[in-house]
Amino acid sequence: VPVDPERGAAVKAADRAHVFHSWSAQAVIDPLAVAGARGSYFWDYEGNRYLDFSSQLVNTNIGHQHPKVVAAIQEQAGKLATFAPAFAIDVRSEAARLIAELTPGDLNKIFFTNGGAEAVENAVRMARLHTGRHKVLSTYRSYHGATAAAINLTGDPRRWASDTGSAGVVHFWGPFLYRSQFHASTEAEECERALRHLEELIAFEGPQTIAAIILETVPGTAGIMVPPPGYLAGVREICDRYGIVFILDEVMAGFGRTGKWFAADHWGVTPDLMTFAKGVNSGYVPLGGVAISERIAETFAHRPYPGGLTYSGHPLACASAIATISAMRDERIVENAAEIGERVLGPGLRELAARHECVGEVRGMGVFWALELVRDRSTREPLVPYNASGADAAPMARFAAACRQGGLWPFVNMNRTHVVPPCNVSEAEAKEGLAVLDAALSVVDGG
Ligand code: PLP
Repeated sequence: VPVDPERGAAVKAADRAHVFHSWSAQAVIDPLAVAGARGSYFWDYEGNRYLDFSSQLVNTNIGHQHPKVVAAIQEQAGKLATFAPAFAIDVRSEAARLIAELTPGDLNKIFFTNGGAEAVENAVRMARLHTGRHKVLSTYRSYHGATAAAINLTGDPRRWASDTGSAGVVHFWGPFLYRSQFHASTEAEECERALRHLEELIAFEGPQTIAAIILETVPGTAGIMVPPPGYLAGVREICDRYGIVFILDEVMAGFGRTGKWFAADHWGVTPDLMTFAKGVNSGYVPLGGVAISERIAETFAHRPYPGGLTYSGHPLACASAIATISAMRDERIVENAAEIGERVLGPGLRELAARHECVGEVRGMGVFWALELVRDRSTREPLVPYNASGADAAPMARFAAACRQGGLWPFVNMNRTHVVPPCNVSEAEAKEGLAVLDAALSVVDGG
């Protein structure tokens, strides 16, 4: 790890002078100046190295600087760096073919975007035009992106500042046994009551007004709540009964994160539209998209689809997706995610929960885990209040600082830490991370 504090200081100074950061009060943030990254690690200019247990924003599923993907981008840049979406381009055709092959059922057409929010915007537009209806249902515990429709669909507090109060969005409660809205005590009860709640909500909203239901297959930032068996099949059945388009948002859960190519594969459910981004190319070049069923694609067979983006199917992004998917296949990266989850992270995190009073629940699959930190195990009172900031959030800030001190970059949201390393994390790296979490949880236990 090369050390160059002066360079680091210059990078930081220019950032503070000119970069306007996401989701932040600009005067109080203190971004780390990053000098480089490789595999599961990145480092700063001061000689500190971090094990990336956040995969950045849960997107670097193949880790940093994968040589095959870097080479594919370099090669494509030399051949054809950019070209408009209206043309047929080899890498765009091939990326679409590969993605369509991986997605479940008849999701055979791909509309490319630059990221997840645009994928959600376009999926919603397709659903509205396909059904001729306007309303879209989504859960409170969700995140779907920060553009107009996507931020209104989002359930978490990031919505509030942009919430138009209608925008055709209605929120409902998804299943989440640990904090059940339905007073359920078993997974089966939670599933049945969550489905009944959704049915009743649809009845009162008027089924003929509802274009789509959008769900994260496994909700990500909102807490990694693996749905109980039968829930997604139940929503599929409700959608079919009322002619509602079923959209699964696989932006975070897709491309290996849960130990399968798509989280939907765990339950054998096929949506009408599926959004993806992040892991499709690990974010090496901005890319997202919507996988579209034959039936919805047919709606736009002779009627123009009224949507587009200058960079839809950008050649560099498509080349990086092809290289990412083939590297994931060749190196059995999805299988690795499943195995590390089952053999190392799952058991390791449960062991931490057994030893640390502050861990209320461990849940997840693959390389997609959440630790719910609580003040009191019996009441399940969260370690910090919902959407806490400043002094109220201090216990989680202390936890995160202890992780960083130990050389681990954590993902922290409200009272949770998410354990979301790259899908190709090694067993040794996973164990190294568990040891740092162990020490950081002791800091929380100690108050
Ligand atoms: N959908 C889900 C499930 C996400 O997790 C995210 C981002 O975290 C988005 C959509 C938005 O994606 P993007 O930030 O690429 O617009």
